[in-house]
Amino acid sequence: MAILVCGGAGYIGSHTVARLLEKGKEVIVFDNLQKGHREAVPENVKLCVGDLRDKDALDKVFSENKIEAIIDFAADSLVGESVTEPLKYYNNNMYGTMCLLEKMKEHGIKYIVFSSTAATYGEPESIPIMETDRTMPTNPYGETKLSVEKMLKWSDNAYGIKYTALRYFNAAGAHIDGHIGEDHSPESHLIPIILEVALGKREKIFIFGNDYPTEDGTCVRDYIHVTDLADAHILALERLQNGEESTVFNLGNGKGFSVKEVIEVARKVTGRTITVEEAERRAGDPAVLIASSEKAVKELGWKPEYNSLERIIESAWKWHVNNPDGFGGK
Ligand code: UDP
Repeated sequence: MAILVCGGAGYIGSHTVARLLEKGKEVIVFDNLQKGHREAVPENVKLCVGDLRDKDALDKVFSENKIEAIIDFAADSLVGESVTEPLKYYNNNMYGTMCLLEKMKEHGIKYIVFSSTAATYGEPESIPIMETDRTMPTNPYGETKLSVEKMLKWSDNAYGIKYTALRYFNAAGAHIDGHIGEDHSPESHLIPIILEVALGKREKIFIFGNDYPTEDGTCVRDYIHVTDLADAHILALERLQNGEESTVFNLGNGKGFSVKEVIEVARKVTGRTITVEEAERRAGDPAVLIASSEKAVKELGWKPEYNSLERIIESAWKWHVNNPDGFGGK
């Protein structure tokens, strides 16, 4: 019996595949390779190139393989793009997962771990953010992820499909052995952009906003290592397979770092010059996002291992130094 990882050629998906294999699990990857990288999927793993919205492709995977459960990462995830192209997000993120659930129902697959996001909360009411806090997304990306969480709830109610939605805070870092890492095009995330500056691929990093109500005026985020995130998926799946109920977990370190603090740590780790320029705020950025992951620690037995910002940036730096052109350079 295999675990089907949808979006397994992407950043968090490929790190989860690596972790599943390290734990001796059988894995099949389903990915449309629009953002994912073929090179991120190990050669001994079956890669089915397909789109969640292609029901025939899903039928084929489910009828040709014995699938015990799904881990679903396949989605569009650019907040800014979701504001200018909301229907793209409704189509891929919502309709795509709807097709997946329909086919899970038809083929009798009972378990799904779903990649959700802190963007489901919107502007937080209080810090740290708890799973029971108000969800009021401020962009279509967060809205479509929250809508899928609701679709999962009603699908469990009607068809008994058990789910766990994992709301990630800021995923960062790379596999500790450096063979896979973050490679987005275009890159929009803070840590890889800083490291591109350190590598000399970009001239400088723009700090978006210096007048937030935080200690140094820049936004504070909760950075969590991608392998720690990966482990939480595996624990979440085991928990469901042990008969526990569907639920939602936050995944973060519970500690916040400002943009300026992240740049400082990156200077220390890389030993390189990182030129900064202060710029306007980016639309839709809340000042502070920090998770309470108490529930995941307690109920999943999850213990983030690579939980210092130094270790997170060190692992990302190793990947960037060895793969300055990302997977394209392989
Ligand atoms: N950020 C920045 N410059 C950049 C990219 C990001 O100042 O070139 C800031 C961004 O405004 C946010 C933080 O870094 O406060 C983390 O942004 P990222 O896009 O990595 O993740 P998000 O928090 O949006 O999911």
